[in-house]
Amino acid sequence: MSTPIPKDSMRSRIMRAVRRKGTEPELSLRSLLHRRGLRYRINLRGLPGSPDVVFTRWKIAIFVHGCFWHRHEGCSLASVPSHNGDYWNAKFKENVSRDTVKNESLRDAGWKVIIVWQCELKKDPDQIVRGIVNEVAEAKERAFHER
Ligand SMILES: [Zn+2]
Repeated sequence: MSTPIPKDSMRSRIMRAVRRKGTEPELSLRSLLHRRGLRYRINLRGLPGSPDVVFTRWKIAIFVHGCFWHRHEGCSLASVPSHNGDYWNAKFKENVSRDTVKNESLRDAGWKVIIVWQCELKKDPDQIVRGIVNEVAEAKERAFHER
């Protein structure tokens, strides 16, 4: 008889696999950027929070945030479950402060941080992609003039 896998280790294995592959919104953003001819790195280790998409040369780091976990303000996806409200609120507070710390350390190191919200990516992917394309173009422009 084989030993059953403890639930926790199963869950962390799944979480790791998700992390490696990226969530659905991450994958969709990547494919949109790729189609626009942008080349980027993903989950670059060594950067705070290993951002989901990184333009190393232009020092642009992008996080694709799920509205629920990362608390998109005023977003209908960022509701608080009615059961165990205190638990969730504590958990959310932790997530948000972790995000703030990551963003600040990236900005302190001279990175431009872009947050892409799940709902906005879904609603108007073109606009999100345009925004990113513009940021990259501006960074290139700056680099050109600084030469
Ligand atoms: Zn949202």
